[in-house]
Amino acid sequence: MKISDILAGSTKAYPSLEIVPPLRGMTKNELLESIAPFMEFSPKYINVTSHRDEFEFRADADGSFSRHLVRNRISETTVCAAIMSRYDIETVPHIICAGTTAEEIESKLDNLEFLGINNIVALRGDSMTGEKRFTPTPGGYRYASELVEGIRNYQGSASYQRRRKVEKDASAQSTTEDRYFCIGVGGYPEKHFEAANIETDIANLKKKIDAGADYVITQMFFDNKVYYDFVQRCRQVGITVPIIPGLKPISTARQVNMLPESFSLDIPLELTSEIAKAGEDKDAVYNIGTEWCISQCRDLIAHGVPAVHFYTMGRSNNIVSILKECF
Ligand code: FAD
Repeated sequence: MKISDILAGSTKAYPSLEIVPPLRGMTKNELLESIAPFMEFSPKYINVTSHRDEFEFRADADGSFSRHLVRNRISETTVCAAIMSRYDIETVPHIICAGTTAEEIESKLDNLEFLGINNIVALRGDSMTGEKRFTPTPGGYRYASELVEGIRNYQGSASYQRRRKVEKDASAQSTTEDRYFCIGVGGYPEKHFEAANIETDIANLKKKIDAGADYVITQMFFDNKVYYDFVQRCRQVGITVPIIPGLKPISTARQVNMLPESFSLDIPLELTSEIAKAGEDKDAVYNIGTEWCISQCRDLIAHGVPAVHFYTMGRSNNIVSILKECF
């Protein structure tokens, strides 16, 4: 089922969960066990993030250096297939432009179609470690809007085209069902770090919607007012698709500095002060982060959001506590 249909048919907010593919070395069973606690809440789907290949330089015997591909994680498509082999659930792989060509992405789409996956979150991805600016791969996409367009133009693998032809001949009309993939994109309530201002960033978000994206998932935020303002600005420029808020509970004191640095966002003083007061007490910090997220989540639901997206980042305990309290 497409996420756009789930969103359209949903009468109350549901949890949307995002996981990170495991590092190589983890087994399929270990992965499935790690997400088992979420299944109690019957999630409608699980998002799986995508990670660009990195390169490292290794010293050779002759003193020179050679470049080696480093793939630390299992691919998102493999993880989606593993999840679907155990659980009766939709999966939503993230597809990124970074480090890949349009042709390689098309082949990825063929694999997704083969697996019966028709939902994607389309993202640009970030620059390689050590690179200051994002550089598109030759033959690849520069912006997520171009990727959205590429996915929209996807004609389907041979089998899909054959199937569509049979269905089309039967119905003799072209509908939006011709779009095989439902596409989600990222939005930034506190502005993407490269954008000159929030207005420009929202104008660029609109390009993704105009290119054919069906809904938005936001970057994490810790002050709901930021999300409500963002939604209002989006509506003002004609973005009408659902905007799913993204949340992540703080679980360690280190994240108070790390999250703003990595994701270019603010953490409210009230939250940082509470965490500072907890000092070295790791459990207290964990509980403060969880409670903060619970109150954000409750407030969002009370404001009528269609779903709440959780960046689980490989942790399930705090997310499970939040789900128990809110859904
Ligand atoms: P874009 O929409 O392309 O925007 C990037 C920048 O370019 C912005 O500053 C934008 O304002 C600007 N821009 C866009 N279009 C234009 C244009 N036409 N002209 C000029 N400027 C333009 N990263 C991963 O590597 N893997 C993941 O799985 C992943 N999942 C994510 C999930 C969510 C919900 C979110 C919000 C982010 C995720 N990211 C992921 C991070 C994301 O890849 C980075 O934030 C990246 O820097 C931007 O991606 P984007 O798709 O928003 O890019």
